[in-house]
Amino acid sequence: MDGTYDLAVIGGGINGCGIARDAAGRGLSVYLCEQGDLASGTSSAATKLIHGGLRYLEYYEFRLVREALMEREVLWRMAPHIIWPLRFVLPYHKGLRPAWMLRLGLFLYDHLGGRKLLPPTRTLDLTRDAAGKPLKGGVYQRGFEYSDCWVEDARLVALNARDAQDRGATIRTRTKAVAAERSADAWQITTEDRRNGRRETVRARILVNAAGPWVADVLASTVGRNTSAAVRLVQGSHIVVPRLYDHDRCYIFQNADNRVIFAIPYESDFTLIGTTDLDYDGDPSKVRASKEEIDYLCAAASEYFAKAVEPKDVVWTYSGVRPLYDDGASAAQAATRDYVLELDESGAPLLSVFGGKITTYRRLALHALEKLARHLSSEARAKHDWSGKAPLPGGDFPVQGFEALVADLQRDYPWLEAAQCRRLARAYGTRARRILASAKDKAALGRDFGAGLSEAEVLYLMREEWAEEATDIVWRRSKLGLRLNRAEIEVLDGFMAKRALERLS
Ligand SMILES: Cc1cc2nc3c(=O)[nH]c(=O)nc-3n(C[C@H](O)[C@H](O)[C@H](O)COP(=O)(O)OP(=O)(O)OC[C@H]3O[C@@H](n4cnc5c(N)ncnc54)[C@H](O)[C@@H]3O)c2cc1C
Repeated sequence: MDGTYDLAVIGGGINGCGIARDAAGRGLSVYLCEQGDLASGTSSAATKLIHGGLRYLEYYEFRLVREALMEREVLWRMAPHIIWPLRFVLPYHKGLRPAWMLRLGLFLYDHLGGRKLLPPTRTLDLTRDAAGKPLKGGVYQRGFEYSDCWVEDARLVALNARDAQDRGATIRTRTKAVAAERSADAWQITTEDRRNGRRETVRARILVNAAGPWVADVLASTVGRNTSAAVRLVQGSHIVVPRLYDHDRCYIFQNADNRVIFAIPYESDFTLIGTTDLDYDGDPSKVRASKEEIDYLCAAASEYFAKAVEPKDVVWTYSGVRPLYDDGASAAQAATRDYVLELDESGAPLLSVFGGKITTYRRLALHALEKLARHLSSEARAKHDWSGKAPLPGGDFPVQGFEALVADLQRDYPWLEAAQCRRLARAYGTRARRILASAKDKAALGRDFGAGLSEAEVLYLMREEWAEEATDIVWRRSKLGLRLNRAEIEVLDGFMAKRALERLS
């Protein structure tokens, strides 16, 4: 590189990291800056479904649904440790959508494309099936069951960043882009290190604005440019309660307001319930679940579950802001979930990302690079659509080989507790061996921070996945925050701060 990157990306959420990975894999020199931790914006606050979006069929979003449905198995193959299939139970509710409409939607869902391994829809007799047991007896007698997938959203971001760096990209976290000046053939980007205020400049031929809910702010204040495209910020919150039922399927419940909510088995001992759709106009980093949202989610779930879900049951909430493309829809729930890529070529190219789901991040990245094609070398253009064929870090095992991976790990590390072995396999796939290395017993993993989090794992996350503070580990690289208490998290924070200082000195 001659000191000028081919591509600079602002934003380390799923879209920025996906674009960085695709570009680096094509041999381009890539720089990415993220103002906080990776996935500290919307990409750690999703419902975490790799899904076509059954509900979007009602809004005729056929392009999006088809692309998303086709992506499910592509992503599952790329990362079978952090992505896995789920079955969804959709109870028929008298007075809401008629059964024929549900059946038609699910027929389309099964046949729009891409489903090879995921099982098809089936009809359920909820008076006999175990899925009927936790529901209000007598009220919900019929239902349907269909397939989608689960993803550990924040880990997907970290693994895309890891893979991008393994392919040559430079990833800078806690680094904010504060200004970007354009000339005819390059951008000069000023960044500020949020740990010490130090400023640097970076040159790049192309600038990608993947700042999610901050996309318009970056355009206005960093780049100093107005845009005709607008972003609509829509808040969505989730609640987590102690496990509500024993089986491993999820529920999709229709509400009288025409929305749907999900209830999903979560982190073995919990149930995740979400989400809401509310227009939002505050600072995206300050979004929090409101009392009204918690009440709404409890009431919507209690409409179906025999045992009411109450606000006092809630052990954790999280909230995020959807950076939707503003298509002028009146209700927040109706605003398009499709993405729009705006390319400005009045000087060095600037590509801005509006909208985009986690499910479609890889396709969005592919389309972004296609849109930039005339600014790329012929080699980079020729390496088209490579990203779905290469596994993400730790995902280099057969798509249905997760249990075999766990069994191999347990065989080689017989002293590892079964639950911890499974958790490490889920989080790191084949790379769990990089943490366990030659350890012959638990003590060899060093200090135990609680809930099975070892010093070896913490150091791995600091070295390989840009973790710097306890929250990065307990709420994004994992969800161990559900199991660790405040004192344990403080100890972890202190340990990480000390190790970071040692590394600097
Ligand atoms: C409640 C909810 C549920 C959802 N459920 C699903 C789901 O089940 N399935 C699905 O596919 N999608 C889902 N989504 C959508 C999905 O989460 C988002 O579309 C996606 O995460 C957006 O990613 P992004 O990279 O565009 O934005 P973000 O993840 O927000 O990333 C943008 C990043 O840019 C950084 N940034 C901003 N300004 C600067 C700057 N000046 N310098 C450096 N960095 C900067 C921010 O810190 C941020 O990390 C859901 C969204 C919400 C809110």
